Amino acid sequence: MPRPTAATPPRPEPAAPSDPARPPIQLPTQAHGPADTDTLETAAAAARRCTVCAPVLPLGPRPILQVGTGARLLITSQAPGTKAHLSGIPFEDASGERLRDWLELDRATFYDTSKVAILPTGLCYPGRLPRGGDCPPRPECAPIWHPRILPLLREVRCRLLVGAYAQRLVLGPGPGLAERVRDFRRYLPTHFPLPHPSWRTLRWAAANPWFEAEVLPALREVVRGVLR
Ligand code: SF4
Repeated sequence: MPRPTAATPPRPEPAAPSDPARPPIQLPTQAHGPADTDTLETAAAAARRCTVCAPVLPLGPRPILQVGTGARLLITSQAPGTKAHLSGIPFEDASGERLRDWLELDRATFYDTSKVAILPTGLCYPGRLPRGGDCPPRPECAPIWHPRILPLLREVRCRLLVGAYAQRLVLGPGPGLAERVRDFRRYLPTHFPLPHPSWRTLRWAAANPWFEAEVLPALREVVRGVLR
């Protein structure tokens, strides 16, 4: 990744917030941030060409992400499933249907890159565990791509942390998923922890009725406010 040199032109100042009442959130930057020549398009294109984990990915690399410079809602989830891997479209499965229902977003809005960005914890399908369920997101992925892409998403107002992997990545170790989701107000207005919308969550939601009664109405209100 090129480092600044005396010949490197200064990076343009970020645009002034378009909505002073709800300014963009500060997404984390780390030592290996965007190259000075990066735009969101070039960084995303580089991510889509990534083959770092090729030796260990059972279906091979197919990085899946959705970004746009104007996106105001950022979804950080786990990793693509097999259907998303085959289609190349994030959340192109029953989990995606459930997530769109939780957010009260139709497909057109959910896949509108000027409104919604999707940057999973791992960009490629990681394979299956021997006892069932998908493997964890590849640990190489977020340290490589999140610091390069996140600072270029300058209009994000709220980041949804979908599932335990995303929550541990962004919030660090701490309480379990249910406790974080139930305590969602603590992370507003910049973050909103959610369970992963897999079929397993149906049973979890039935055992935790506060999720549909309290969390989903608040989530929909946040999403409406961010995307209005
Ligand atoms: S999981 Fe991430 S780091 Fe690994 S090949 Fe895919 S994009 Fe690259």
